[in-house]
Amino acid sequence: MNESPALARGGVAGIVVPPAPGHDLFEYEALAVSAARAAYADANAWHHQALGELILAYERLLRETRRLVRRSDREELEMNRLNQRLHELAQELQYRATHDALTGVLNRAAVIERARHHLEREGLALIVLDIDHFKRVNDSFGHPVGDEVIRAVADCLRSEVPAGTEVGRVGGEEFTVLLPGRDLAAAAALAECLRQRVTGHDFALPDGQPVTASFGVSSLAQGHGFDQAYGLADAALYEAKRAGRNRVACAPG
Ligand code: GH3
Ligand code: MG
Ligand code: MG
Repeated sequence: MNESPALARGGVAGIVVPPAPGHDLFEYEALAVSAARAAYADANAWHHQALGELILAYERLLRETRRLVRRSDREELEMNRLNQRLHELAQELQYRATHDALTGVLNRAAVIERARHHLEREGLALIVLDIDHFKRVNDSFGHPVGDEVIRAVADCLRSEVPAGTEVGRVGGEEFTVLLPGRDLAAAAALAECLRQRVTGHDFALPDGQPVTASFGVSSLAQGHGFDQAYGLADAALYEAKRAGRNRVACAPG
């Protein structure tokens, strides 16, 4: 009697020998198909055995395929997880590149970028404010207490500004508020609200003293540059300091 190809390679009837490492994954399936074809051609030969091998081979093929599909599913899940993480990291990077680490408001670069954006489109009112005699806080109570004061001032600003207004920290104890499309009067009114908010806040300093800030305000129409808008607000801030601090001064309209 003819021997099936699998048997010829060391298998016994009905048992398919697993492939040696490095062999083609479907070598035995191919041999089994050949055997089944031969059995089909010669009905009196060992076709039962060949068909049996074919069934076993296909069962094995199915198990292997299922295993591969499961592995591919796991890898797809892992890839999705890594993709999601990459997306989160990109967002985190974008946040860190545009926000101040101490206060969470916009950083200097982002303030300039946002201000230029607004000036190109609709004009911009700008409030620049600086904490008064802040060096004394640091000198009297230490840098960490100074940091807390800076954080609390940022919170005062954030909680007071209307929607569509952006707050940024441009220097040590200096903040900028961007009011897109607003005029000088509206910006000055908001600056006064912010001044009162800071003055009225309990910063819980050890000596119980309040913290105050001085404000400079400017407003420029669309098409002007950031340096000009900032220079005007900064000059007004200087005026507010010179006039005694804890006040709002406006750039000439
Ligand atoms: P003025 O009323 O004229 O603004 O006086 P000032 O004391 O507030 O201004 P000055 O520029 O003399 O001092 C600012 C101080 O702010 C000096 C600097 O050490 C401190 N400072 C800058 N950045 C930080 C910071 O991130 N944390 C703390 N704690 N202090 C800072
Ligand atoms: Mg200051
Ligand atoms: Mg300053």
